[in-house]
Amino acid sequence: MGGLGGGASEVALPRTWTACHNLDVTPNRAALHLVPDPGPPVSEEPDPGAPDLEAARALLRRVFGHADFRGLQGEVISELLAGRSALAVLPTGGGKSLCYQAPALLRPGVGVVVSPLIALMADQAEAMAQLGVAAGRLDSGQSPEAREETWRRLQAGTLDLLYVSPEGLMQGWALERLGRAHLSLIAVDEAHCVSQWGHDFRPEYRALGRLAELFPRVPRLALTATADARTREDIRRQLRLEEAAEFVASFARPELALSAQRKSGRGRSEVVSLVKARPGRSGIVYAGSRAATEELAARLAEEGVMARAYHAGLDRETRRERLAWFLETDEAVMTATIAFGMGIDKPDVRFVIHADPPASIEAYWQEVGRAGRDGAAAEGLTLYGAADFAWAAERIRRADLPEDQGRLQTRKLHQLYALFEGGGCRAAAVRRYFGEADAEPCGQCDRCLTPPVGVDITEAAQKALSAVHRLGERFGRGRVVDHLLGRAEAPYEQSLSTFGVGAGMSAAAWRGVLDQLLFEGLLVESPNEGRPTLHLADPDAVRAVYRGERRLTALQVSPRAKPATGRRRRAALDDLDPAAQTLFETLRQWRRDEAHRVGLPPFFVLGNATLAAIAQVRPASRAALAAIDGVGQSKLDRYGEALLDLVRGAT
Ligand code: ADP
Ligand code: ZN
Repeated sequence: MGGLGGGASEVALPRTWTACHNLDVTPNRAALHLVPDPGPPVSEEPDPGAPDLEAARALLRRVFGHADFRGLQGEVISELLAGRSALAVLPTGGGKSLCYQAPALLRPGVGVVVSPLIALMADQAEAMAQLGVAAGRLDSGQSPEAREETWRRLQAGTLDLLYVSPEGLMQGWALERLGRAHLSLIAVDEAHCVSQWGHDFRPEYRALGRLAELFPRVPRLALTATADARTREDIRRQLRLEEAAEFVASFARPELALSAQRKSGRGRSEVVSLVKARPGRSGIVYAGSRAATEELAARLAEEGVMARAYHAGLDRETRRERLAWFLETDEAVMTATIAFGMGIDKPDVRFVIHADPPASIEAYWQEVGRAGRDGAAAEGLTLYGAADFAWAAERIRRADLPEDQGRLQTRKLHQLYALFEGGGCRAAAVRRYFGEADAEPCGQCDRCLTPPVGVDITEAAQKALSAVHRLGERFGRGRVVDHLLGRAEAPYEQSLSTFGVGAGMSAAAWRGVLDQLLFEGLLVESPNEGRPTLHLADPDAVRAVYRGERRLTALQVSPRAKPATGRRRRAALDDLDPAAQTLFETLRQWRRDEAHRVGLPPFFVLGNATLAAIAQVRPASRAALAAIDGVGQSKLDRYGEALLDLVRGAT
């Protein structure tokens, strides 16, 4: 590592501090020594020479090729440019990265980005390099030489951004070396991982609180896409951001059309038909087990869908290959467990299907949020069943959590199923969950498009509950339904008063009633080693139904009015006129070759939306090309001539 050698003596060499700092940093406060800093944690006086939002906007245009900030980006960036820390909650696809990229480029020093996504750091750094930004990474997957190279660049002051994992960062020697560099900011991505109230707790995130003492004058930014009020409070406390301004964007994702439906059986053929109804589109199908991802991928492949499975049971190399395949392939469908997780930021994912339901509303929003990141229309479709609900409840019981944690997880589970079972707008329900009291109906989810009608099923519920009771709570759903329909063989069963009382309704309708009783907590299903049995739940609640004091309403959607799947909303790309469509295909082919040449996923070259805009606008000059969203200086230099040639050739 150059002339610096390894060793503790470096801590005593403060020269580099004064040499490259323009901030008032006390040289002897070496990073390793946890001496509390006497000064204020962040600068209070705005530095008159500090870059302002105008400078950031100019950078946004020059480097990133975007016309203006989106949502709260401008506010968050201003805060950091003023040297103050912040907590920002922006929805997936809301452009969180820019909140630290822009100030890191504008402020002197290197911006440190803490992210749990080791697998994706290389991509993030590469995407930055494509924009002409000097970005490096430190992760366990690198060779020692590559790591040393990053340190060398850091020491030389030639890095703008450094991506690092929490474990990698919080090691003494790493902190020590960073302590001698000049930091422009520290961004903690996926900050909800610090909180056990969230849904993705990672203990190694807890150590990041120490950064407040170690780098008291460096503004810190905590970023997440999902955090309810309690999680936000926890993030502040854990990361020592008590004083930081909080920016919480709306959770609205207007490009997402949501829907949810109860599955019949395991729901696997429903998944296949949902995917087949969306030909040529890229999507993610989340399933609850590794085996299910393999099974679904195989079934989809049989149907001619480009599908592969992804889960933590695959070896590292296979996972790497499949991720690369997914990113590179326009119509790729990945069937995956949640191991295919955070930071899968392929912009043109058109649908996310939950073949099995997510773990919580937070997880739901994060997972469906992976669709439509380019802002074009996309879908989130969920299949769920009473068995999934029972299994999730059982898992919470088995986890043997501390009492308050167990209660919290159970409440979150009920909130999730209330969202699926509820009759109101899905998007508005999610937004209310995250604290947006005034969320309006979205107008495009299944509930908004075909409002269900309520049907009183109290009498059917009474019959079903008594059937479970008379059968001694010893049987599963199938047997209870047969009993209600009068289909049993056993003579003792035929003598029971509930035998055949349900003959007026179909088996499917009875299964629906049992589902509803399970969701409403009037029945519980115990797993019983894979042969689930139904039991009466809370006796008071059951009695209230028997007596007719509690009425039950089922929501029914008229099958005729069911929204057409897939083609209902068309992506902006599909709206191109035929000539533009042809040019778009030409540009896409060019992009594929270009991406292949440099060994990167195609959207690193240029995004679909940018290609579509070029095909539509047909820019005739560099200036006209530069005006298109997504074409910054670096892309213009790199690809400008080629693109203008292609446009010219097409006219
Ligand atoms: P996330 O918040 O999910 O991390 P990203 O930072 O990956 O989102 O950004 C999502 C997409 O939005 C990217 O393709 C990015 O280029 C684009 N984007 C971000 N900011 C802007 C902006 N101000 N104008 C236009 N596009 C933007
Ligand atoms: Zn809606």
